Amino acid sequence: MNNEKIQFVDLVAQYQQLRTEVDAAMAKVCARGDFVLGEDVKLFEQEFAAFCRAPHSVAVANGTEALKLALLACGIGAGDEVITCTHTFIATVSAIDQAGARAVLVDCDPRFYTIDPAQVERAITPRTKAIMPVHLYGQPADMDPLLEIARRHKLYVIEDACQAHGAEYKRRRCGSMGDIAAFSFYPGKNLGAYGDGGAVTTTRADLAEQVRTLRNHGQKVKYEHQIKGFNSRLDTLQAVVLRVKLRRLEQWNEARRQAAAKYDRLLAGTGLFTPPVAPYAKPVFHLYVVQVPDRAKQQAAFDAANISHGIHYPIPVHLQPAFAELGYPPGSFPVTEALVGKIISLPMFPELTDAQIERVAGACLKA
Ligand SMILES: *Cc1c(COP(=O)(O)O)cnc(C)c1O
Repeated sequence: MNNEKIQFVDLVAQYQQLRTEVDAAMAKVCARGDFVLGEDVKLFEQEFAAFCRAPHSVAVANGTEALKLALLACGIGAGDEVITCTHTFIATVSAIDQAGARAVLVDCDPRFYTIDPAQVERAITPRTKAIMPVHLYGQPADMDPLLEIARRHKLYVIEDACQAHGAEYKRRRCGSMGDIAAFSFYPGKNLGAYGDGGAVTTTRADLAEQVRTLRNHGQKVKYEHQIKGFNSRLDTLQAVVLRVKLRRLEQWNEARRQAAAKYDRLLAGTGLFTPPVAPYAKPVFHLYVVQVPDRAKQQAAFDAANISHGIHYPIPVHLQPAFAELGYPPGSFPVTEALVGKIISLPMFPELTDAQIERVAGACLKA
């Protein structure tokens, strides 16, 4: 039997396909010498905005910074509250904290893992300034009810689209629905750089301009600092990698959807909870997450079969020691707390072969 390691994400396999193009593009930057916010950064911003069907995009240092600068551009800071979901990567909440605001957490939907709109309305206080839905695992959050709540209460909607490059909600792309959105180009994301990178997309020219100023020391003109800013720039070598990869992203997202469909079919008889796709959603399967009755046993089975896996995420934000100050005791969010002990992420990347998918499914224990 073939016992070759199945990676969780295989970035080297992808580089082999892109090598000639990426190496040549990088050499051009080195010859030109515009290493930070260079020509390719501008071009990438235009191409990425078009891909997201958003009027504006501004490239920044990473996804966490994209979230932070999005919040600051909206004027959110000390004394303000931002509602988001406890079932997310820590950076969603770190960014709110770094902007000086307070994260108000709510539970997620038990099927789709995204923020439960019914709970958002109940969490609104006079201090609430924004809702930050996370398009977790590449599944869009249920945006229409959230946009409607935001309209009624005059709140910003800031999308955490760090796992959802190209995902669609009722034919609208993630990153084009709220006031502003944040993307990460961490190497393992659907669109990943060869290092850190991030971007905001926005429908509003004023917010784009504000992020542009904030990312480069608060200056519009060199050495004239209108506002206090940050060094949160994207470097040009990352932009050329992103430009090469962006041309293939549509096709890679389709390959992920097909891999997910194959997992769905093969796991249909096992009794495992596979990720349902909401009627409003065209997901991009950044992750393919299933729920298993005995995770330790499943992990041992994957280890024995030489198959990598992940857990996204084992501890919800409200139970992280770092955010104990938010004051949510165990039991605060029963849906999330129940699922974090059962979820396991299967290998998922566009180059995954049918044979590999079959091997992974074959190593899944029946419920
Ligand atoms: C990756 C990620 C981030 C942060 O992005 P970085 O580029 O690592 O800073 C934020 N939110 C979510 C949901 C993410 O998956």
